[in-house]
Amino acid sequence: MIPAVDHLLGLPAVQRLATEYGDRRVRQAIDAEIARLRTSLLDDTAPGVATRDQATALLLERLDAALVASREPSLRTAINATGVILHTNLGRAPLADEALAAMRLVGMGYSTLEFDVATGQRGSRHAHLDAVLREATGADAGLITNNTAAGLTVTLAALAAGREVIISRGELVEIGGGFRVPEVLRGSGALLREVGTTNRTRTADYAAAISHRTAAILRVHPSNFRVDGFTERPEVRELAALAQRFTIPLIEDVGSGWLGFDLFAADAFPAGARSVLASEPAVRASIAAGVDLVAFSGDKLLGGPQAGIIAGRSALVDRIGRHPLMRAVRADKLTYAALDATLRAFTSGHAARAVPVMRMLAASPGTLAARATALAARLTDGGVRCEVGPGVSTIGGGSTPGATLATTLVRLSSSSPGRLLARLREQPTPVIARIQDDYVCVDLRTVAESEESLLVAALVNARD
Ligand SMILES: *Cc1c(COP(=O)(O)O)cnc(C)c1O
Repeated sequence: MIPAVDHLLGLPAVQRLATEYGDRRVRQAIDAEIARLRTSLLDDTAPGVATRDQATALLLERLDAALVASREPSLRTAINATGVILHTNLGRAPLADEALAAMRLVGMGYSTLEFDVATGQRGSRHAHLDAVLREATGADAGLITNNTAAGLTVTLAALAAGREVIISRGELVEIGGGFRVPEVLRGSGALLREVGTTNRTRTADYAAAISHRTAAILRVHPSNFRVDGFTERPEVRELAALAQRFTIPLIEDVGSGWLGFDLFAADAFPAGARSVLASEPAVRASIAAGVDLVAFSGDKLLGGPQAGIIAGRSALVDRIGRHPLMRAVRADKLTYAALDATLRAFTSGHAARAVPVMRMLAASPGTLAARATALAARLTDGGVRCEVGPGVSTIGGGSTPGATLATTLVRLSSSSPGRLLARLREQPTPVIARIQDDYVCVDLRTVAESEESLLVAALVNARD
């Protein structure tokens, strides 16, 4: 029942495609679509195909769609209607306008990336963020890497290869995407020295493990889960005092990158967002408590580009910067530009407005309810069956497990929510939503106002 390749190639519609896309591409697409149809006929999932004509019609339709799609870049924009602010699979933090502008300026021409204009000699890329990182974190020095996983690897390789790193058993965590603390340690050549238990580790446990083999104490924020009940973990300050007494560096991986600035002073944040941030370990608080090196991500609560930031004592930061692995994990010029602009939004006090992640956190329940009601009205006009109702947004990105923010959801009725969800993903700009209580739910917290018209078009187009 499946038509022969030569038959398809002879059809005028296919010849038109061949003129447009080239013979080779069209042949490849025909082979792929025939293979796909054959598989679906075998598992009886081919939609309404019983004759050769029907198979030909379906193949032509799919061929056209596949060739159109082949012109699109694989990485494209998507609308995040999930309400998960730091959605790792959707690219984590959308960037601030200032960060985008800085990337454009630096990317469109040459730059002083590794050039010292004062001397005309080769300069260091690390130097560009030095001052702003000092101001943002309160540390003496800082450097950046491709991401936090890379930053911790190079940090441990520089400071602890062949020696022991003491870590609590409660912090031997997997963060996601294959980031497992014991494996990162091993990868850097450091030896793991576990202390305490899964639920309770005391300062005395760390103290008892210190020996001439100890290179560092590592504290990891177990960012994506919570242990409740009979638990104990030393305060950062106590651990810092212990590390200082034995002149061992204390390294803390706080992950989420909440700097700890007082953005709430102007009441810019609703109470829910305030309590989310208050529950996060703050970089500035750790530095102030005496942590020697703090590692955190650029694209989580900081709201910047993907990067790992290491801030702390300059002697240690210099050693890390000189390690040969640094060359393999360094960040590119666009990252420097975007991170600089993002950090400046915090140090100059306008991050609550300028940084999209902060804006989404700060969106008030009233504003979200008004936007949802207006969206539901537009959808109803477009023939979409929907209603609004209360719901919750989450932070995501391995931050603040369990923390939620009150929101208003637009809930779409559908005879098959799963199929509606799939059709939304197939729109020219994919819409990623979620199902709750048999409704497909849209949370506008993570949708920019500038995306709303596209969202309406997609929801109307995908309706039952
Ligand atoms: C997210 C996270 C990481 C990984 O950070 P990346 O920048 O994604 O490499 C490491 N540690 C903690 C505690 C985290 O939350």
